[in-house]
Amino acid sequence: MAEHRHLATSSELLYRASDPEYFRWLAHVMPAAACSRPIRLRVDAQWHDTTGAPIGPPERVTDDMPDGVLYVACKNRRASVCPACAQTYRADTYHLIHAGLVGGKGVPDTVVNHPCLFATFAAPSFGPVHSVSKPGKPRLCRPRRTPETCPHGVRLACFDIHSSDDPMAGEPFCLDCYDYHHQAVWNLHAGELWRRTTIAAHRRLADLARPLGVKVRLSYAKVAEYQHRGAIHFHAMIRLDGIDPDDSDRVIAPPAAITPEHVRLALADAVASTVFSTDTHPRNRAGWPIYWGEQFDVRTVHLSPGDVDDVGQITSTAVAGYLAKYATKGTEDAGHVSKRLTSESLWFYTERDTHQARQLQACWYLGERPLACTTPLERDRWRDGRGTLPGWGKLQRWAHMLGYGGHFTTKSRRYSTTLTALREVRKAFQRGQQPLAVELGLTGIQDQDLTDDPSPVNLTYLIEGIGWRTTGDAALANTAAAMARERRRIAREEVMTMFNPA
Ligand SMILES: [Zn+2]
Ligand SMILES: [Zn+2]
Ligand SMILES: [Zn+2]
Repeated sequence: MAEHRHLATSSELLYRASDPEYFRWLAHVMPAAACSRPIRLRVDAQWHDTTGAPIGPPERVTDDMPDGVLYVACKNRRASVCPACAQTYRADTYHLIHAGLVGGKGVPDTVVNHPCLFATFAAPSFGPVHSVSKPGKPRLCRPRRTPETCPHGVRLACFDIHSSDDPMAGEPFCLDCYDYHHQAVWNLHAGELWRRTTIAAHRRLADLARPLGVKVRLSYAKVAEYQHRGAIHFHAMIRLDGIDPDDSDRVIAPPAAITPEHVRLALADAVASTVFSTDTHPRNRAGWPIYWGEQFDVRTVHLSPGDVDDVGQITSTAVAGYLAKYATKGTEDAGHVSKRLTSESLWFYTERDTHQARQLQACWYLGERPLACTTPLERDRWRDGRGTLPGWGKLQRWAHMLGYGGHFTTKSRRYSTTLTALREVRKAFQRGQQPLAVELGLTGIQDQDLTDDPSPVNLTYLIEGIGWRTTGDAALANTAAAMARERRRIAREEVMTMFNPA
């Protein structure tokens, strides 16, 4: 079988590489070449005259291209799905967070002087778990000379040191004691808890600033990550900004009267005081309490010259890199599944009674629509929720994410540039600064023609398929991308030696 597959690949390779059009094909797929599963698009153009009336039938403009399609990278965030696109996402996230710290990409570079804090917001305990030691700080898991015993007879003590790749890391001592329902519901509401906390922090900060006669605001970028136990937690970069009374969108330096200590106080206060109860649930009429765990960690970020990592200091580069790394992690790192569950696949994943199985089951079970939901209104409310509270049905839809359905990288409006803006810049660069019309060979069309009304051309995108046509194509494209990357790296090094001769 393996032999067959290998033969098929090499004949595919030969077939493609001996094609006289090979180099045209390679140049054509280059923008998506590193992607594991690019999207193949057919594009239809409908031409219009100046009055906006269509001229003739739509024209399939991709027909003359190699393979008759346009290849577009999948842009998936998760390294387990597409390593190359996850790498791009990671780089973009890095630039987004970094620009918010030191300026650049449309953010004034004066932000480097704003007080900045790096904070970690964690979930409360849902039951004792085997704890993970931080790298370089080995710690006994749960040393107890006379340990308590849980109602199921499990001794709650452990004298091991668990590194983060230890399978015991994050495992509950007793599956029957662990509150899986609370964790699932907490993950579902984590985004709402964050929202309420930022509002509370802003209020608290305003209270501190008012007697000093100043106004400030917090800007942030945050990244969500799974802990080993499966609860979501947030890392956030929080920056203090001043408010320009004439232009609220401008990012200006905060008044010196407000110190990082004020911000820390406001955050700690907000974290300690923000608590709410979920909607009622058929399995828990009172709802679940949603609040933060006790381990709220906040540190000041020092922007040392040139961003050199000083011992014991967090620098902007280190923090931006750290946050970006987490943005591309999925639930897989907490030992979970990457696809949306169905009632069939749930059975497959929960055949054995494990921590993972119990987490998936809790989401599925609590997200199941009760028979009592009969009216369409009740069904919609169950599925999507109303107002700010999410519907319980989302727990089933997001069971593979352990209940968390929020974004993995978010930022407040003024923190820095957006991922979309960065993507647009890169897209233009990849196309050699050409607008899509030129890329499609629709030369003679001005860029604004595509945006101004009435537009002479409307483009319709049809997905022909996902992934490379053959494993041979995948190998050729991925190799070409790797070689291009290597050439860029060498060119960069040559430029560096030119300017910094040894
Ligand atoms: Zn991809
Ligand atoms: Zn342990
Ligand atoms: Zn127990």
